[in-house]
Order: sequence, then C-alpha cells, then structure tokens
Amino acid sequence: MRAGFPLPDVNWEPTRGFWQAAQRRELQMPRCERCGLINWYPPPRCRACECESLGWSSLSGRATLFSWSHVSRALFDGYASKAPYITGLVALEEDPRVRLVTLLVDCLPEDLTIDMPVEVVFRVLEFPDVEGSVIAPMFRPHS
Ligand SMILES: [Zn+2]
Repeated sequence: MRAGFPLPDVNWEPTRGFWQAAQRRELQMPRCERCGLINWYPPPRCRACECESLGWSSLSGRATLFSWSHVSRALFDGYASKAPYITGLVALEEDPRVRLVTLLVDCLPEDLTIDMPVEVVFRVLEFPDVEGSVIAPMFRPHS
C-alpha cells in the first residue's frame, strides 16, 4: 500500500488538474476543445471524437443525485474513521451523463431522494495516522 493512502494522489498527471482546482474551491473536469464533451474519468483522448486536446473547464458545481449508499461500517480499514458516511454518484448539471463519485455531507440518509438537486462544497479530507490532507469536492443537498 503506498504512503498516504487512502488520501488521493493529487500529483498523478491525469487528475492533477482536478485536485489543483479543488484547492481553489473550483470543480473542474477535462472538456474536449473540439466537440465540447466533458470527459470524466480523464481519458487520453476525447471519448466522442478522439481529439487529444482536452482542457480543464470550470463547472457550476450543481448536480443531481444519481445513486448513493449509506456506509455504517467501512469495508476497508482505511475508511473506518469516516463511518458512518454516505458515498454517492452525482450527475453533473452540464451533462448528466457525467457522474462523479463523491461523499454526501450535511445531510442524513433519510434526507436523500433520487434526482434531488445537490451542490458542491469543498472540505478537508484527512485520516488518522495518515500524514497530510487534501481539499476535496463533496456534495450536499441544494434547495
Ligand atoms: Zn471531443
């Protein structure tokens, strides 16, 4: 297991722009400079047109809740300190086909419904016994 796990590797080239934007409290994903498609998870070429020019594009941070799971006991020891937590998939306002795996915060499991509006918030992600922390996009219900 690499050092720092389960913190994300913010220096890994394909997602470095995502984490750099998060440090500025911005949600960014690669967008094709030819056809405009948002490509997530970052591929080497656009999934629609195979263009290799993908630029980091700012997103609204608004989305809808596609799916979620309330985790009361972490399956992996590294996440035990976070339980209970809610992990989910949110569908972006700009293109609902694009879904981001995230944590849902500032809510209870019973508050959640399919397709409800959610918005990004940026929170410090850290774990006991793991050095460092990362500012990560998470989502909360948005009325
Ligand atoms: Zn494209």
